[in-house]
Amino acid sequence: MARCSLCSSRAVAYVRYARLYLCREHFHQFFLDRVRRTIERYSLIKPGQRVLAALSGGKDSSAMALALAELSKSMGFEVVALHIDLGIEGYSPTQLSAVQNLAKRLGLPLIVVDLRRALGVNVAKLAHRVRRAVCSVCGLVKRYVMNVAASLARADSVATGHNADDVLAYVLKTMLVGGGEEYARKLVPRTEALPGAVPRIRPLYETYERETLLMCVVSGLPYEHTPCPHAPRTSIEREIKRFLSRVEELAPGTKIRLVRRVARGELGPTIGGTQSESAVSRCSRCGFIARGDVCSFCRITERALGFAGGPRIVEYIDEIVRGLGLG
Ligand code: AMP
Ligand code: ZN
Ligand code: ZN
Repeated sequence: MARCSLCSSRAVAYVRYARLYLCREHFHQFFLDRVRRTIERYSLIKPGQRVLAALSGGKDSSAMALALAELSKSMGFEVVALHIDLGIEGYSPTQLSAVQNLAKRLGLPLIVVDLRRALGVNVAKLAHRVRRAVCSVCGLVKRYVMNVAASLARADSVATGHNADDVLAYVLKTMLVGGGEEYARKLVPRTEALPGAVPRIRPLYETYERETLLMCVVSGLPYEHTPCPHAPRTSIEREIKRFLSRVEELAPGTKIRLVRRVARGELGPTIGGTQSESAVSRCSRCGFIARGDVCSFCRITERALGFAGGPRIVEYIDEIVRGLGLG
């Protein structure tokens, strides 16, 4: 039986690039230290700030929530959780209950935005009505809701659970086969916001995917591993993840070195962290950020439902935020 390199208790993990066998407690510490150093290295969160943690119910954002909740005490920031219930049958209900259990266990205030309650339709129906792919509409809805919720809850940033493997798979896919350049450019540890939007931060930027899974398992965290029926990971990204993990076996630390180069803008399309410079204004319907007169969320809902959905989402979240005493 392998023993922890630090205390000789039973090891639960071998972290190859650090050449460490770790027991449950020391792995926990190792994981938190990694996230804390990422926050410091890239100035993701400052003392006194409020972070809105976007939680999907999956392993990555659940592990992130645990790390943020624990670090918030020593680092002096505040964490509020957000979950968007997209109303996807056979998927959303289990995600929601995982997030509810998690938030309860971590003592985090939780904002749940139920799309069907706010708009009367789920994301699949919304996408169908405008003849677009579910995943692209889902991404748009999530971005919009995250930004509105962060603004109304007076959060300084929105944290998502993207890990090192996610970032590299996306960036390398863009380099190898093209497409998604604008999104890949934003996959840096911190994406500064345009006026009217809230910055995005990625505290698991230097954390390996297998470590987020292990963290959930050893800490007994509630998380769901059912994949969304609409969004099977593209096989290219999955292949790249597999390939990188094989390289990592032969050359431990490869992923960390690569992801740091992406963060510095030395690799792929990821040059700088800012978005393209096209003019931004305020949506004439909902008042949030838009390129042009109407934001993409209000435009798409207007087409699908006959009314702009933005103001309803704003009103819906405002009520929750006030109920939680966050506004
Ligand atoms: P994805 O785009 O599904 O890979 O998710 C990327 C990140 O977005 C996750 O790690 C979460 O932080 C966040 N996220 C995804 N789905 C949701 C959701 N339904 N509610 C809140 N946050 C989410
Ligand atoms: Zn130990
Ligand atoms: Zn709008």
